[in-house]
Amino acid sequence: MATFGTLSDRLAETFKNLRTKGKLSPADVDSTVREIRRALLDADVALEVVKDFTGKVRERALGDEVNKALNPAQQVVQIVNEELVQILGGTQRRLEFAKKPPTIIMLAGLQGAGKTTLAGKLAKWLAKDNHTPLLVAADLQRPNAVNQLQIVGGQAGVPVFAPEPGNGVGNPVKVAKDSIKFATDKLYDTVIIDTAGRLGVDADMMKQAADIRRAVDPDEVLFVIDAMIGQDAVATARAFQEGVDFTGVVLTKLDGDARGGAALSVASVTGRPIIFASTGETLDDFEPFYPDRMASRILD
Ligand code: GDP
Repeated sequence: MATFGTLSDRLAETFKNLRTKGKLSPADVDSTVREIRRALLDADVALEVVKDFTGKVRERALGDEVNKALNPAQQVVQIVNEELVQILGGTQRRLEFAKKPPTIIMLAGLQGAGKTTLAGKLAKWLAKDNHTPLLVAADLQRPNAVNQLQIVGGQAGVPVFAPEPGNGVGNPVKVAKDSIKFATDKLYDTVIIDTAGRLGVDADMMKQAADIRRAVDPDEVLFVIDAMIGQDAVATARAFQEGVDFTGVVLTKLDGDARGGAALSVASVTGRPIIFASTGETLDDFEPFYPDRMASRILD
């Protein structure tokens, strides 16, 4: 995964140095932990996450499990792997479906994060799995957003519920509410609501998203975040957590070549799981997120 190319290379280099040692002295552990710390910070992982992570790695690396290991260096790599899995959320968390359909999934995030694209990806993925999704255009801020969702819906082969002229135009809360009634009447089993974003965190946008959340009581609120946003990731995620109390995270643009620290910070600082990863512009560039696989890719 390109996003973690540099981080992977740096960690590989660190471990290569470590492998030349037999027993590890506390000084070896310290210098290894320092290198890991630097590599993570350079990858834009949030300082608080880095501190917590390296603290745990250091403590375990100085303990008996490494001391008594046949191959101490290998054991340290294993510890780093396990702790990486932990900051990425531990075990895989699947999308939750409502006991009684329709399952309501609301998307929230900054403009350009990839929400509309994701709506199409998710719809296509669900349709392939024998669900009957309905896409809902509740982003009425950008003039072209409804149109864009319709294009994506067409590509996914999934219908789009959009405000009709004179009815609900400019009122995303009404559109969202009406869409649930429509889905219930027409037996769609999943409703995916695309909402408006702004370039930065903005009180009006957040209030609108919170109003939609309150009106439709979604089963999942997915916070969509561009893995390339770097150091802003934590503040943005916290603002959305406070504003809409999301239930899960979707990382987008993991195919990019930026540093990807967002990916390694957001689950940890919000305590919310990453549920999906988006890895390109076409509707098939999308997959459920597995913390262990991501950790392995980083440490490959
Ligand atoms: P929204 O404003 O949050 O609805 O974002 P859009 O869905 O319109 O996406 C913004 C831009 O990012 C578009 O040009 C998308 O094609 C692109 N995009 C979305 N997801 C990905 C991804 O996973 N990888 C890449 N490379 N581009 C993406």
